[in-house]
Amino acid sequence: MTQTISLGDGDVLIVVDVQNDFCQGGSLAVPRGDEVVAAINELAKRFENVVLTQDWHPREHQSFASTHRGRKPFDTIAVPYGTQILWPDHCVQGTPGAAFHWDLNISHAAAIVRKGIHPQIDSYSTFYENDRVTPTGLIGYLRERKLTRVFLAGLALDFCVRYSAEDACREGLSVVIAEDCCRAIDVNGSLAEARASFAAIGALSVASRTIA
Ligand SMILES: [Zn+2]
Repeated sequence: MTQTISLGDGDVLIVVDVQNDFCQGGSLAVPRGDEVVAAINELAKRFENVVLTQDWHPREHQSFASTHRGRKPFDTIAVPYGTQILWPDHCVQGTPGAAFHWDLNISHAAAIVRKGIHPQIDSYSTFYENDRVTPTGLIGYLRERKLTRVFLAGLALDFCVRYSAEDACREGLSVVIAEDCCRAIDVNGSLAEARASFAAIGALSVASRTIA
């Protein structure tokens, strides 16, 4: 029998980066990324508290291959905070690619957190930029609202969802991943690594129908 997770006052759904550039036809499309939209809309109806996040880069962001002469997407470079994968230009502030997927319909979401806004720092996690110290403000928001259990859904499972889960655990929050509401990029074994990480940090991975 499948166990149900009962929702309460301290629960929040964080919808990670469901944006056009990460969906079919976008510049950094996650395979089958569009498929999460309907499932997330349904799941969000069960939550009183919902936060949406948006990857939101300035032009010529350091994470874009086009910013670096002679580099191509998925090359890696060394940056002060470690190794940076170079991506196709994506989610440039104010462009249609950075907008939420047209069918995403969560009008009761109370906050939108934008990340990756600093030209020199990428941001996978919705809590901290990739230097691990620059906050997005989301932790402060959750603390002030007394939200202590985080449910994650969105794109991509093996990058922004994964790093958000790790940061949330480190901040002492409980983490549940609605796995059927996520899709992965799966580059260089990143999906297997993400799954191993969820197990290691004690993040629960569940089917969204068990959340009620
Ligand atoms: Zn990005």
